[in-house]
Amino acid sequence: MTRWDAETAVVGLGAWGAAALWRLASRGVDVVGLDRYTVGHALGSSHGGSRMLRLARPDHPGLVPLARRSRELWEQLADEGRDMAPGPESLFTAGGGLAIGPEDGRVAGGTLRAAREHGVPVRTFTASALRFRYPRHTGVPRRHIGVWEPSAGVVRPEPALRAMLAAAKRAGARVTTDSRITRVEPIPGGVRLHTPHSSLTARQVVLAAGAWLPALLPGLPLQTVRMPLTWFRELEADSGFDAESFPSFRRELDDGRILWGNGAQDGQDVSLGLYDGVGEGKPFDPEDTDRSVTAEDWSDLARLLPAKVPGLETVPARVAVSTRTYAPDGLYVLGRPDADRRVVVAGGAGVHGFAQAPGIGEAIADLTTNTPSPMPLAHLSPDRFS
Ligand SMILES: Cc1cc2nc3c(=O)[nH]c(=O)nc-3n(C[C@H](O)[C@H](O)[C@H](O)COP(=O)(O)OP(=O)(O)OC[C@H]3O[C@@H](n4cnc5c(N)ncnc54)[C@H](O)[C@@H]3O)c2cc1C
Repeated sequence: MTRWDAETAVVGLGAWGAAALWRLASRGVDVVGLDRYTVGHALGSSHGGSRMLRLARPDHPGLVPLARRSRELWEQLADEGRDMAPGPESLFTAGGGLAIGPEDGRVAGGTLRAAREHGVPVRTFTASALRFRYPRHTGVPRRHIGVWEPSAGVVRPEPALRAMLAAAKRAGARVTTDSRITRVEPIPGGVRLHTPHSSLTARQVVLAAGAWLPALLPGLPLQTVRMPLTWFRELEADSGFDAESFPSFRRELDDGRILWGNGAQDGQDVSLGLYDGVGEGKPFDPEDTDRSVTAEDWSDLARLLPAKVPGLETVPARVAVSTRTYAPDGLYVLGRPDADRRVVVAGGAGVHGFAQAPGIGEAIADLTTNTPSPMPLAHLSPDRFS
């Protein structure tokens, strides 16, 4: 009889793998997590100061239960952290979030539709009310609206990742870093995971390798693009860019692009970004470890600032290159490929995947422990592309 090194192995300890490890260990599963780099590195997608969480997700109705469960778990984790090491660094701030755009558009319109369908409380603003309440947003056309979602908030990736892994370890999970899985070999009743120098066996493996996922499971139609994170400094101190006056937002522009951002927290700079949409962006090879920044990474965004959010320097204080990995339909990929009972794949986290990580981790724990999930998952199946 084979003696397994672990009941379940999780490959990749970015947001999704860390969440899977935490949720599995908290159910008493014998689980090991492996990452090719050190935890919290900046070569994947799970770094960079702030990530928005919204419940009123318009992309698919199935994402709302995932977001709700994620929010509960972030709050639980933040409370546990405060109890164990009280301090100023909160991993989740429930400060609300704003969607701005045409009423029939994908951002404000989509948020409003999702909120109505799923009973998420929101408040709407006309463009002029929006200008009055949030004066840092300028140039909002008269036909646009603002949708305020009080249950939205901001997750801070670095402390959030640390807290998920700490909670996983407290519950008995093992973590191995600087350990690159080079091959997943199916064996009877389980898998053998190869590293350059050794191997380990597990009954099941969760592949949560972000942009590197297709290298471990060829055939998955995932694309990875370059996505910079950009921070801007106020021209004058205390000029209304704090998180309360300038809360987390997504704003649909006339050309369809989305300007997004998070107000300054704890005296930090303002985080802003520009997003074209699924299927767009500069393709990126995750094996390329060069993350040097060029003006191309921030110049389009900087050009917009004087008209859309004046009051910030137009040269960023800081830029970090990150990546976004997505499936052709923009939805996550989560499930057992070809109904293989040894493998769960979790990828295509896109631009909304961090905030939903705990719900994803919970869904992975449901899948691997054969527990019926209260969250709908069929629409995320990796087999939907075949
Ligand atoms: C600019 C930007 C803004 C974003 N804004 C938001 C937002 O506001 N809200 C939100 O919810 N989300 C947001 N996201 C998306 C979110 O950050 C990602 O969806 C999420 O972090 C993806 O996590 P992951 O665990 O899938 O991937 P990753 O974080 O990339 O983790 C994958 C891990 O797998 C490891 N790995 C890879 N290959 C191997 C191997 N062979 N062996 C062992 N380990 C391996 C890697 O080292 C890495 O640590 C944003 C993303 C970007 C880039």
